[in-house]
Amino acid sequence: MRFSEIVGHARVVQWLARTASEGRGPGAYLLYGPEGAGKTSLASAFVAALACRRRSPEGEACGVCEACQAVAARRHPDVTWVEPAAEADGIGIDQVRRLRSWLGMSATSAWGKAAVIQQADRMSLQAANALLKTLEEPPGPAAILLLAADLQGIPETIQSRCLRFFVGPVAAPVLARALASRLGLDADEALTRAVLAGGLPGRALDPSGSAVAASRQRAMEWIEQAVDGAPRELIGLARAADQAAPWEVDAQMQAMIWLWRDVAAWGWARRADCLIDAGLRDRVVAVGQLVDPVRAVEALETLLTARRMLGEYTQRRLVLHWAWMTLRRARTGPAARASHPTRSA
Ligand SMILES: [Zn+2]
Repeated sequence: MRFSEIVGHARVVQWLARTASEGRGPGAYLLYGPEGAGKTSLASAFVAALACRRRSPEGEACGVCEACQAVAARRHPDVTWVEPAAEADGIGIDQVRRLRSWLGMSATSAWGKAAVIQQADRMSLQAANALLKTLEEPPGPAAILLLAADLQGIPETIQSRCLRFFVGPVAAPVLARALASRLGLDADEALTRAVLAGGLPGRALDPSGSAVAASRQRAMEWIEQAVDGAPRELIGLARAADQAAPWEVDAQMQAMIWLWRDVAAWGWARRADCLIDAGLRDRVVAVGQLVDPVRAVEALETLLTARRMLGEYTQRRLVLHWAWMTLRRARTGPAARASHPTRSA
């Protein structure tokens, strides 16, 4: 992985590349942000830049020298990756102890060593304490990179010893350009996918598109339930959404805004060429037949506000419920059916 392959995050890239080019690699770094935003890619590019024997003056790894190849294959003697041993476990004290003794052995390279700790927010308390000692007194010159979905699981004491970088969603047009060039999508398709992926390159670039499709399916279900389902089922949906990770809810919310925009467009124009998202056209049209266009546009504004509120408030269940009730009020004609149409049909 090279910095030039990273989608978005221009400022983080610039910072890390300059750090590598000036030989100031050793230190502690904390990269945090949603899964799929690019933390692992940034860490890989940084480590490659530190290790590369033919690094450019701008701090970019060559990508072909022996060191670059060894980093890419994760067999470079001076680079180690730490992650939870099993999906259910966090990072344990033994792993941090092993890391500490590995850092204490002398490096084969002049630049020192590098350790990337993945899912650092899932560390046991003892492991975090041991890591803190390592950060306070590193046994040798080393770049220690902590990757975490959010800061909550990282003790303040560790955070304050690290240079922190937020690795968040990438602006949709930037991501769309990368999708167009890498996956050969046309411009409209690329932008749709970028938005539906919530600006997360890891989700958008997945060639199967399954993560994006799943978000979109769920968002469509939310809309159908809100407009045409039983109120009781909405409470169940809100409860399920409350269990999901914030970025996941945000991606779905974004997908819902996108789809609802099409619902409102259909309500106004009743023309298929007004719809952005071709994938779920039949279901969008079915909902579009049920709504009052003026209220549908008002509801779109509510959705935008709700999305912002979800990022600021913890009462996600209430915010979602409020948004869905607004969608329901956009409906014209007979009262909502007693159950979901796809199940009662
Ligand atoms: Zn190289």
